[in-house]
Amino acid sequence: MNKNKRALKVAFFAILIAAIALLALDSTGIISMDSWFAGRDGRVAYSELSKAIDSGLVTEATIEDDRILFTTAEGVFVTDNPDSSTLKERLLESGAKVSEKDGVSVSTILDVVFDVVFFGAVAVGLYKLVDYSRKTFKVVHKTGVRFDDIAGMDDVKADMMYLVDVLKNPAKYREKGIRPVKGVILEGPPGNGKTLFAKALAQETDVNFIATKGADFQSAMMSMGARKIKMLFNKASRHKPCIVFIDEFDSIGERRNYAGTGIDKENNRIITTMLNEMDGFTANNGLLVIAATNSYASLDPALVRPGRFDIKFTIGNPDARTRARLVEIYSKGRNLSGELSADVLVTAFDGLSCAAIEAVLNEAQALCQMAGNSELTMGHILAAAQKTGARLNIRIKK
Ligand code: ADP
Repeated sequence: MNKNKRALKVAFFAILIAAIALLALDSTGIISMDSWFAGRDGRVAYSELSKAIDSGLVTEATIEDDRILFTTAEGVFVTDNPDSSTLKERLLESGAKVSEKDGVSVSTILDVVFDVVFFGAVAVGLYKLVDYSRKTFKVVHKTGVRFDDIAGMDDVKADMMYLVDVLKNPAKYREKGIRPVKGVILEGPPGNGKTLFAKALAQETDVNFIATKGADFQSAMMSMGARKIKMLFNKASRHKPCIVFIDEFDSIGERRNYAGTGIDKENNRIITTMLNEMDGFTANNGLLVIAATNSYASLDPALVRPGRFDIKFTIGNPDARTRARLVEIYSKGRNLSGELSADVLVTAFDGLSCAAIEAVLNEAQALCQMAGNSELTMGHILAAAQKTGARLNIRIKK
């Protein structure tokens, strides 16, 4: 938002400065805005000028590089300059006041303004790219999230701890013929802890962490997405051992469309660069890319081949055990009424994502506090579910 405001400010000042420059040049007589505007309205054929000269109607004329402005009793007109060697003489003989101007014309100034805007845009683009890399691909050493904060996913936790151990101690495993894994896909609907899990894994295994998402690589400028991928991998390599987390991976990793439009081509470039980077870091182990998606089937097949993102974990909505743990985590320190037994809540939350369960419990607590009640009741839960749009698995008796 701030960046947009700044861009608007810059554009406003650029237009203001250009307008001031035009007015200043007009007042010094280097250009004539009046005649320019008049000339745009009164563009006539050269034969009209010729006729006006012959009839002695031209009172004033300005001969420029590529056009002639002339004044008659009817107004100011403009016509092309055919570079006639006798024109000036004919005008003078007819009694017209003649001036010649070469060099600066409005079109020249517009050319300069265009150059300034064009090169300015390129400079701003480059600056943004550098700034983008600095700010977006932030390397975090301690994410502050622990496995204990995550409900469920016990099998994923164990497998991934092992993968990171291989990543950190490649020599130990190489002897046994075990190679570090480069890429893992976490698949499943949103709000079930894919991001949370990647963060906790970095914390628990004490490696650096860079979080990014598919949309960060999309850009209106051609090849920019691919460049950003390279920047990401360069940065991660400089901070090994490092986990790179790419959320919404399907938005950049979608199956390539070779017959597509500009956007498809840009996407193809991003995937190709991604594949090159993944293939390139065999020698410098120490990187693990975790990509999250809710649409595994739409990913480009080349991305999920062995040696790339070849391990997949599916993380769905929480099962009963995980829901029980979520209730425990998110109602800690809260005073639940007798009717809200763990069983009741676990059943009520069946079918919701972890994030939705968290939202309902937090909202219910807020409603409870606002009403000044000492106990959290089913009434609060129902009201919170309605407010957050969660569909509880409850049959309300009428
Ligand atoms: P995803 O990446 O799958 O869309 P997130 O990791 O962003 O989901 O989860 C959003 C929020 O929901 C988390 O910040 C956390 O508060 C809560 N949450 C999601 N999954 C879990 C979980 N398994 N255990 C505890 N909290 C969770």
